[in-house]
Amino acid sequence: MAETIFDKIIDKSIPAEILYEDDKALAFKDINPQAPIHFLVIPKKQIATINDITEEDEALVGHLYTVAAKLASELGFAHEGYRAVMNCNEFGGQTVYHIHLHVLAGKLMGWPPYTDKPKHLE
Ligand code: 5GP
Repeated sequence: MAETIFDKIIDKSIPAEILYEDDKALAFKDINPQAPIHFLVIPKKQIATINDITEEDEALVGHLYTVAAKLASELGFAHEGYRAVMNCNEFGGQTVYHIHLHVLAGKLMGWPPYTDKPKHLE
């Protein structure tokens, strides 16, 4: 499987502002934050997209949410609320092909998460 920039963050060959680490997962601040608080929670295992998640990864993917919730509590925005999302492939807006949970907080989120009206609703 192709290496991504996140493999270099996992092996510390490039720096990142790491918020949490254990044997299975890593959380670090997004380099281009889209909210006052924006970090990524990633598995250390290389999984390219949501489509590549298998049954054996279910506990690992659940763990990413546990890490997100733990950090939300520690950083003090759990009660206020936040968004935790994973983008998949081109239409989902994915640019790094190693799954990652975006955690965005500190700002009232809008919905839907696109700016133009989808074709099927015109
Ligand atoms: P995606 O578009 O794949 O859902 O999200 C990839 C995210 O990774 C983007 O929000 C982008 O800013 C972030 N990102 C890309 N390269 C780096 C990097 O080298 N360091 C950090 N900390 N974040 C990165």
